[in-house]
Amino acid sequence: MSNTTNLILGESLAAARARLADALAAAGRPAEDARLLAVSKTKPVAMIREAWQQGQRDFGENYVQEALAKQGELKDLEGIVWHFIGPLQSNKTREVAEHFAWVHSVDREKIARRLNDQRPAELGPLDICLQVNISAEPSKSGVMLEELPDLAAAVLAMPALRLRGLMAIPAPAEEPSAQREPFARLRQALDRLHKRFPDAPLDTLSMGMSADLEAAVAEGATLVRLGTAIFGERDAASR
Ligand SMILES: *Cc1c(COP(=O)(O)O)cnc(C)c1O
Repeated sequence: MSNTTNLILGESLAAARARLADALAAAGRPAEDARLLAVSKTKPVAMIREAWQQGQRDFGENYVQEALAKQGELKDLEGIVWHFIGPLQSNKTREVAEHFAWVHSVDREKIARRLNDQRPAELGPLDICLQVNISAEPSKSGVMLEELPDLAAAVLAMPALRLRGLMAIPAPAEEPSAQREPFARLRQALDRLHKRFPDAPLDTLSMGMSADLEAAVAEGATLVRLGTAIFGERDAASR
């Protein structure tokens, strides 16, 4: 890894942190109120190692085989926390249950049940965000808002899972006000779950990406998922 790579990544990570800090300040929220999840899909392990050396601990991956290969090469990175954020098929749940600390993309009971049954006891509960199809887009991932309370109730009854909150990827929008609207609806959905399940450990709104971090933080994001802003553009051919 060249020093140039180090410098560029160090600068973009510092810029991403400053952007998050500015967004929190602009929203009148404390500086520790939200943290950065570095989305490293398609990016090399050298970049993840470099970000870790700069103090980054939470990393998000979308593809199970790619993630497992990277984890194997990065076993020495103490305190690293792996988040699975991509679409999850039934035949991959065991690997995810065994190799991740968080899953942000649970959107149906069958997947939750498998993760619960397959989570190794010695790892403790798997932290879960339910992915909501907040813009109600046909054929997109995520549970519809109307079905969210039942799914939340089901997951709360699964002892190897810990329901932490909600995740969404809204339909793209340019205007800040248009960006904020779906994030506000996700926050309101979490508020309703709080009322309905007052003892649940619901402390997480996983929302905001490189293009809409500010809008998400203004509406209460606690975990922003940044890929491009930290690691640079992804190769179009590599998804
Ligand atoms: C790729 C991805 C991100 C990061 O997107 P950027 O626009 O590169 O910041 C965040 N969340 C999910 C679920 C993703 O798949």
